[in-house]
Amino acid sequence: MQEFIPQMEPWFDDHESAAVSLYLQSGGWVTEHQKTSLFEEMLSTFTKSKYCMVTTNGTISLTLALLAIGLKPGDEVLIPNLTMIATANAGKLIGINPVFVDIEKETLCMDLGSAQKVMTKKTKALIYVSLNGRSGDMKKVMTFCKEHNIFLIEDAAQSLGSYFHGKHLGTFGSIGSFSFSVPKIITTGQGGALVTNSAKHMKTLRLSKDFGRIKGGIDIHGTLGWNFKFTDIQAVIGIEQMKKLAWRINRKKQIYRIYANTLKSISAIHMIPTNLIDTCPWFVDIFVSNPSALQAYLRSMGIGSRLMYPPLTSQKIYKDTSAKVTLPVSYHYGKSGLWLPSSSKLTDTQIMKVCESIKYYYSH
Ligand SMILES: *Cc1c(COP(=O)(O)O)cnc(C)c1O
Repeated sequence: MQEFIPQMEPWFDDHESAAVSLYLQSGGWVTEHQKTSLFEEMLSTFTKSKYCMVTTNGTISLTLALLAIGLKPGDEVLIPNLTMIATANAGKLIGINPVFVDIEKETLCMDLGSAQKVMTKKTKALIYVSLNGRSGDMKKVMTFCKEHNIFLIEDAAQSLGSYFHGKHLGTFGSIGSFSFSVPKIITTGQGGALVTNSAKHMKTLRLSKDFGRIKGGIDIHGTLGWNFKFTDIQAVIGIEQMKKLAWRINRKKQIYRIYANTLKSISAIHMIPTNLIDTCPWFVDIFVSNPSALQAYLRSMGIGSRLMYPPLTSQKIYKDTSAKVTLPVSYHYGKSGLWLPSSSKLTDTQIMKVCESIKYYYSH
């Protein structure tokens, strides 16, 4: 049997298993406690944000962020039309309506000119998604939000280890959100984190995650809250993953560089010019005229790949919103994108095998 190269796989080793085992032997209560606080501290130190709170996942984290800035049912939030569907669904859960905006071809992130055109009196926030670790000019994004008097929330789920001019993505807006689901830069199986410099937002976030309790272990509830807590088991894994982060960021950049250098001779393939000083590409994304056909060929060669997110307004639940505006750039990239094997575990030999297969496909 030939080896199969997966598009993505998580990487755990003896460090995670030893840490989990040690934690269980220590008699920890498993639910969130000191290990969770330590993981939060590591994340706020890494991103240079004052506060960090972890939660169940990177979808609920966005819901909590929208609640924390005071959004109400019926409010509208600007969302790029090319992102994981969770960005839009997070608000839907609490009756907030996504308004879809086209993207810039240089970054695949929200185009502010298009955003301007769909704003209404109900627009209360903009969720900026730094897709694949890339971003546009965050200074301009901040200015845009200030001028229109709307909140900036960042969905930086794919951007741990990515920066704009040296400042970590997720730290430009009121609140930034990260995800630790299995394919992300680091994983705790499920998990999400919110970062902010606002003590007020952090207080609201913590209350909503723990039933609105005025303090731990007491059943007096100052406000409405639910249960979106983490577990110390996940934190123990997250702490070990954080220790590998610097290495992993470097490797992800190397992987992207090898692909980009090797595939640049193939005119049928477009890659987004990427600044690898600021950006840690989460996945290696290429754009071709028929990604499904290339995917099928790669699969026959024992190589996994994944089709890019379809534009959100092409999804069943958001189709009705598509009639109002056309979002051509999101359609172009959403329909032509393919993610190549991108795990930080990939060897150079495996990357070359993928590149050789792609070269063969386009020369025959
Ligand atoms: C993964 C992801 C999410 C959702 O995170 P989960 O932890 O899977 O809930 C949200 N937005 C983007 C851009 C993502 O990539």
